[in-house]
Amino acid sequence: MERFEQFKKLIGSPKKIVITTHYKPDADALGSSLALANYFTAKGHSVSVISPSDYPDFLYWMDGNSEVINFKDGKERTCGVLIDKADLIFCIDFNSLKRINSLGELVLKAGAKKVLIDHHLDPEHFADFELWSTKAAASAELVYQLIVDLGDRHMITPSIADSLYAGIMTDTGQFKHPNTTKNVHYVTAELMDLGADVSKVGALIYDNNSLHRLKFLGFALSKKLIVMSEYRTAYFAISAKELKQFHFKTGDTEGLVNYALSLKNIVLAAVIIERPDAIRLSLRSRGTFSVNNFARKHFNGGGHSNAAGGTSNMTHEETVKKFISILKDYQEKLNSNYN
Ligand code: 5GP
Ligand code: MN
Repeated sequence: MERFEQFKKLIGSPKKIVITTHYKPDADALGSSLALANYFTAKGHSVSVISPSDYPDFLYWMDGNSEVINFKDGKERTCGVLIDKADLIFCIDFNSLKRINSLGELVLKAGAKKVLIDHHLDPEHFADFELWSTKAAASAELVYQLIVDLGDRHMITPSIADSLYAGIMTDTGQFKHPNTTKNVHYVTAELMDLGADVSKVGALIYDNNSLHRLKFLGFALSKKLIVMSEYRTAYFAISAKELKQFHFKTGDTEGLVNYALSLKNIVLAAVIIERPDAIRLSLRSRGTFSVNNFARKHFNGGGHSNAAGGTSNMTHEETVKKFISILKDYQEKLNSNYN
């Protein structure tokens, strides 16, 4: 972080802090936010965590979950007041205010100093302090480093360590994506030393499926997986009706895209979902094919080189057609990239 000493001085006395993270937070977004919230609370700050939306119930075990304010849950006014009165606003695991929808406008307007902690590509520079690195596999890795750099490693409790570990475990795809660096293993070892229970956290996140979710997965794999081998692409297009049929709830499609990417010879994988508010795309790739660029150029999105997301305002059917039609522009890249 640039101007770290200035930041350290600022955080050295009790402050009113708001911590916010991206829409539909995942384990890294929520785990990093709650870890930081618990640490700041222990340091004597007054802390609120605001989520722009709901999130999967397999994250509810995280310490501090019950105090998270869901902006979408009729809490716009409460959040407005908290943001207005805050001395400091932390933006965790995202780097563009449009990722937090109308909450972003409140954050932008606020007089508070803003602190960005993030590891996604192409940040918008709206914050006063930035702890940003694309070398970090997870925002949790950066939060760990920040607490250590502030001289407070000893304040990382087992429950803080669990939440940070959850972020690292999920954002590295259980330590197998190319972002799994030596530092990832080092920080994980440190977190275990501080009390993270890796087998407990693994089970809480991955062995917590509803029967509906597993039946939906079976349906998607057997009926909805489309392979276009000429483009080394595989995708699932899931309609609102199909989601309803399987009693969809937030988090049920998380990880689905990885099944498409796990196919032999596939370079690009997508899930195109019809959500009530918009059509959402979840994109993954292998090697040098950048889904960050792809999502930015065609679907108003972004993310990392091998994992990104986007949105479309067209109908579900039109979005799928658009996705297929642009593949031919990438045919050479998708084929040459494979190794
Ligand atoms: P997922 O497919 O799991 O929703 O997202 C993959 C990665 O891309 C995550 O790191 C996520 O934060 C990021 N991402 C997802 N959707 C968007 C988006 O609309 N815009 C940007 N900038 N990043 C996104
Ligand atoms: Mn992350």
